[in-house]
Amino acid sequence: MRLKSIKEINGTIKLLTGTRIGGSADLIEIGGNDNPVIRNPLTSELYIPGSSLKGKIRVLTEWLEGKVEGGEVHSCDKNDCPVCRVFGRSAQNSKVAKSGPTRISIKDAYLTEESKRELEKLKNRTGLDTEWKYENNINRITSEATPRNLERIPAGIEFDFKITYKVLDMGDNGKIDEDMFEKVVLRGLKAILLEGIGGGTSRGNGQIEFTKLLVDGEDLKDSINNIVIG
Ligand SMILES: [Zn+2]
Repeated sequence: MRLKSIKEINGTIKLLTGTRIGGSADLIEIGGNDNPVIRNPLTSELYIPGSSLKGKIRVLTEWLEGKVEGGEVHSCDKNDCPVCRVFGRSAQNSKVAKSGPTRISIKDAYLTEESKRELEKLKNRTGLDTEWKYENNINRITSEATPRNLERIPAGIEFDFKITYKVLDMGDNGKIDEDMFEKVVLRGLKAILLEGIGGGTSRGNGQIEFTKLLVDGEDLKDSINNIVIG
């Protein structure tokens, strides 16, 4: 087993609709926002955790690969399972599969400098750097409405993200990992373009586009847009 190469994706996500990447309400005063978005606790700046992007791409890949059973995170001991090989598996499964380390690593995505300035302006104008959206649940019998308050990162904001991917030569000169990069990682990026990120995507939250997408310095934005799923 030899680490043949590490591929690097550098991109920028632009939010096309308000997006909810949930944080913790623990630090919020009672009566305040009970559905906060996630922030860096030191700077209070909005960010998208790498785990959140990874989780979304993994779930969509599990669905595409027919690996969804019973609602748990998929993990198996098949050496060539695309989900486990790319996104990781349990320690026990890993011992049997002998497929080496998790191939993908997704870093936290941070606000672009321009978006930081935009949010600063928004905060000066409104006192907030996010949008609070009220949604109603309607009781089907009494028609009584239960409003809830959701915080969203506003549309138009951009985050820089970075993904690395290890290609291991497992006696195949890295061919399986090279194939999985196309079939799992690039397809997964297309899947989040179609599905969105964060919570409430079925209600229109979290729609995105890539305003930049470089794979080892090569612009693959159009190629990813052109991937057909299914
Ligand atoms: Zn698996």
